[in-house]
Amino acid sequence: MSGSPVWHPFTQHGLQEPIPCVERAEGARLFTRDGRAIVDGISSWWVTTHGHNHPRIVAAIREQAGLLDQIIFAGWTHEPADTLARALVETMPAPLTRVFFSDSGSTSVEVAVKMALGYWAARGEPRHRIVVMEHGYHGDTVGAMSMGARGVFNRTYAPLLFDVGQIPFPAEGREQATLDALERHCAGADVAALVVEPLALGAGGMLFYAPWVLAEIRAVCARHGVLFVADEVMTGWGRTGTLLACEQAGVVPDLLCLSKGLTGGSLPLAVTMATDALFDAHYDSDRARMFFHSSSYTANPIACAAANANLAIWRDEPVSDRIAALGARQAAHLRTLARLPGVHDARRLGTIVAMEVAGEGGYLSSRAPRMAAAFREAGVLLRPLGDTIYVMPPYCIGDGDLASIYEAIAEAVAG
Ligand code: PLP
Repeated sequence: MSGSPVWHPFTQHGLQEPIPCVERAEGARLFTRDGRAIVDGISSWWVTTHGHNHPRIVAAIREQAGLLDQIIFAGWTHEPADTLARALVETMPAPLTRVFFSDSGSTSVEVAVKMALGYWAARGEPRHRIVVMEHGYHGDTVGAMSMGARGVFNRTYAPLLFDVGQIPFPAEGREQATLDALERHCAGADVAALVVEPLALGAGGMLFYAPWVLAEIRAVCARHGVLFVADEVMTGWGRTGTLLACEQAGVVPDLLCLSKGLTGGSLPLAVTMATDALFDAHYDSDRARMFFHSSSYTANPIACAAANANLAIWRDEPVSDRIAALGARQAAHLRTLARLPGVHDARRLGTIVAMEVAGEGGYLSSRAPRMAAAFREAGVLLRPLGDTIYVMPPYCIGDGDLASIYEAIAEAVAG
């Protein structure tokens, strides 16, 4: 749309790259205004789980929009939020008994950190240091940026970012260094919480680590009483093969951040789930000790209705079977692709596939936008992270569409 005043995210407008206009979507396909069908190979930034415009989610949104569009959530409530909170408590691990709503993955993490500090303050033991993992990503608000990898994305804002402790990424064979570093950080009396993406670091390059390491990490936190915050904004809702990535390690966090697939990817909504201990620390007759956080659209009823439909789909449909089957189908394609010259470190976790292609390195590698353009031409939406190509399709993707993604990758690699 030439001449549009829209300022797009993570877009250098000065490069004048084309920005296609999408008019409608169905399943794993997007349809552009100029009449093209595009296969959505990244679930529209990792949000679309069951497919675009799932009929049950669309119906729930329509119905709720005709009843109650929005209501202040401080001091007021509504049925979709109550139903959703109960269903989440039922679905997620037992110690997570409290549900706090917000609007995005970033805010769900900010909320978790504020809850953690509130917990320690209420105990009269004010701890404020946050420990994070190397290459992590938790969002683009100032607090979330502070906890993510430092680099070109946030260099300009560095003076605003708070200081955090960091543990190295537990690459295979170097796991002990991660655990030792965590042990050292936790031995200090000031660590409030560890914030991590369980098993898969998304924006940091689709880096995977082993469940046993996550279990050890959780154990170190527990030993030192450090709160363990699982940012499952990307990994949640089946991406890594199980509903939560934490499941594979047999761990339960003190605070759990969910967004993206919470509404099946249809509307913005997030939750931070907490244990009784976190809630009780803020429970008092003193108003000064309440949890001070809100935003205008907290628990928007239409978004909650969409999330309720998502949970109903998980309950009624064979979602886990679809996920397992998609994993196996991806694995077959990956085996072929991994043999191509120029493809390195081909890897898969559940429904997520990633590989490195020989290049100049770094997020700003000029090859990434060239590849993205080639994918667009081939009718596929993929958005490499620097020299890392990854595939994370909706679970409903058909065989032909999945094959077209891998054909496009093979061509791009050859080119
Ligand atoms: N945490 C993780 C692990 C993410 O992958 C993302 C986004 O990709 C976020 C937080 C931030 O979510 P949002 O973009 O909805 O603010």
